[in-house]
Amino acid sequence: MLLRHTPTEVKERSALTINPAKTCQPVGAMYAALGVHKCLPHSHGSQGCCAYHRSALTRHYKDPVMATTSSFTEGASVFGGQANILEAIQNIFNLYNPEIVAVHTTCLSEVIGDDLTQILNKAKSDGKIPEGKFVIHANTPSFKGSHVTGYSAMVASFVQHFAETSGKKLKQINLIPSFIEPSDMSEIKHLAELMGVRYVMLPDTSDVVNGPMDGKFRMYPKGGTTLKQIKTMGDSVRSIGLGRTGSMAAAKLLDTKCKVPYDLLDLPIGIKATDAFVDALRVASGVSVPETLMVERGQYLDVMLDMNQYVSGKKVSLVGDPDTLIGMAAFCAENDMRVLHVVSGTAPGPKFERRIKELCGEDVKVKTGPQADMFYFHQLVKNERPDLIFGNTYCKYICRDEDIPHIRVGFPIYDRVGHSYFPVTGYRGGLRLLERVLDAVMDRQDRDAVEEKFELVM
Ligand code: SF4
Repeated sequence: MLLRHTPTEVKERSALTINPAKTCQPVGAMYAALGVHKCLPHSHGSQGCCAYHRSALTRHYKDPVMATTSSFTEGASVFGGQANILEAIQNIFNLYNPEIVAVHTTCLSEVIGDDLTQILNKAKSDGKIPEGKFVIHANTPSFKGSHVTGYSAMVASFVQHFAETSGKKLKQINLIPSFIEPSDMSEIKHLAELMGVRYVMLPDTSDVVNGPMDGKFRMYPKGGTTLKQIKTMGDSVRSIGLGRTGSMAAAKLLDTKCKVPYDLLDLPIGIKATDAFVDALRVASGVSVPETLMVERGQYLDVMLDMNQYVSGKKVSLVGDPDTLIGMAAFCAENDMRVLHVVSGTAPGPKFERRIKELCGEDVKVKTGPQADMFYFHQLVKNERPDLIFGNTYCKYICRDEDIPHIRVGFPIYDRVGHSYFPVTGYRGGLRLLERVLDAVMDRQDRDAVEEKFELVM
């Protein structure tokens, strides 16, 4: 009875968050920076912030996450962090030799008011940034936004600093995914590659935070978007942003800065959203859909039809990040599940609620922002009990107390493996997600079956 004091009665709150359903902006900024090859994330704040952000990512990906910090102490807290970061930049290039240092700010440096643009210009004019190396930054105070907005800000910063127009268009597409797993980035690339589409994906954390064990330590793993690739993004024919909250800023910036038009799509989770993505690739690149992709689609569709009786009508509650939630809602709706609740600590704006209701109907309860926390989510679950809960590791307390099966999806997942390697996007990801849902439903059915109904064959 871990959360036995959660009351059923919901009271309106305006100034209190209890167990937030999000984490802080720099976590997302750090993750986005890891998706650029030879880029070292740098946290401009105290060591505690950086330690927390690194440990959140390391625990989720079960791979060591590298990042440096300006190491604020009392002096920097009073006088500002300029001296700290200037020294840090020199040390970073001497010791770790990255191609890019991607600085994100923290609550403390934002409250002090450090002007990173001015400080980094000074670093350049003082000769602390070697020739051919770069230091960029994104403002990511955590008293607003979430890890998703921090991710979005850092991706946009890469575009701002590096995307160029040469005047000559390249027959390639920019793919800008929201905050998703490396396995999902791989799956999205797999779809584009099957279709023969030339693309640049920014960021790309596959082969970075889910690399193989080969006994060697690499400060900079082989994955990640290269600087050369980012520079060409301004010459692409089109951008496709996947997940509005995480990708829109970069896609829009490529349009305003480099005149690259963009489509904003939902993450390709479930058959309809994957179809929409495949179609957008087809139209933008003028290619056709190959048979191998039709087979993947057909396999997912086959299992959807064969197993519909087990999931149809199941009630589900969803908590997590907005772009993933839209994907999960679409997946649940197309499998005839009934979505009761959708809760996100990130506040993605009114379009989010509209999209969820389009997918799931008007009855679904949607709440976003600081008071859309795990406490509130638990209250919703207590008032209207779902058959399944989709959400990150923090849901396990609610699921245990309420005896409801838990589908782990989103960020963070600290207590299971697999999310880094097995996608939820694309047709193959849809099939995998459906398999997990069916396992949860059938395990529960077996557990609760009386002896004479305990069947060998389903
Ligand atoms: S919320 Fe602010 S102070 Fe806390 S870890 Fe995040 S950036 Fe640091």
